[in-house]
Amino acid sequence: MKYVSFYDGGHVRPGLLDDNRIIAIACESLIEYVALPEGERAARHTNETLALLDDARLAAPVRPPKNVFCVGRNYLEHAKEGARALGRELKLPEVPTFFSKAPTAIVDPDATLQFSARVSQEMDWEGELAVVIGSRVKDASEADAMDAVFGYTCVNDITARDLQRAHMQFLKGKSLDGSCPMGPWIVGKEDIPDPHRLQLSVRVNGRRKQQANTDQMIFKIPRLIAELSKGMTLEPGDVIATGTPDGVGFARTPPEFFQDGDIVEIEIQKIGTLRNTVRISP
Ligand code: MG
Repeated sequence: MKYVSFYDGGHVRPGLLDDNRIIAIACESLIEYVALPEGERAARHTNETLALLDDARLAAPVRPPKNVFCVGRNYLEHAKEGARALGRELKLPEVPTFFSKAPTAIVDPDATLQFSARVSQEMDWEGELAVVIGSRVKDASEADAMDAVFGYTCVNDITARDLQRAHMQFLKGKSLDGSCPMGPWIVGKEDIPDPHRLQLSVRVNGRRKQQANTDQMIFKIPRLIAELSKGMTLEPGDVIATGTPDGVGFARTPPEFFQDGDIVEIEIQKIGTLRNTVRISP
């Protein structure tokens, strides 16, 4: 099943996608629906067609009230390219590296991304599989961790590399407005029995920049949830971006960053394509 948030007049409403039709869900938001116990969700499905997907303007599927969780260096080839570009020795972490993006960075799946060259001249792409949490969980074991998952979506963990370097700490360089496009929808976990077998690719203006399979993740999703939920509650609607493969701009020779007018696409097998236009003002 695919789950969307879309604009209906001035309101964002949740819906189920049935081919091209958006079917109403009797909830205020997709987060409210996601937070329902699994057995109570179907009772909220209706038969009412609200819109056709082709005509609808989609919103980011969820907007978590708190920061978006991210994982750094979760693909070996990306860890290697990063170390190479920075002239550092490759040292792999024994536990996942977590950081976060401010929730204000989240934008709709078809949003035009508005950046300013006065703020950053090194805006870079990072295509990632994102996990949407469906139930409150703390101290999950790896064996139970997947029970807390609702589904999956695409995230572009766009990064201002110059700010990331200047501030030492990741938060600022990861949190500019527009730097977390998400969507276009959530695919329920029932439709993706193995999230570690998905092709992921990133194209800029139709040219492939990143291509990998999620089987290359160093820390798999159960481990990520187990580590993150140690002593820390995860809540319905929380999003965990699981890391990016190699092929990011700053590690390329020569380095590449977004230019005004670029079109960036994150495509993940069984989910879909997140496509945004980038505008950079002087
Ligand atoms: Mg990332």
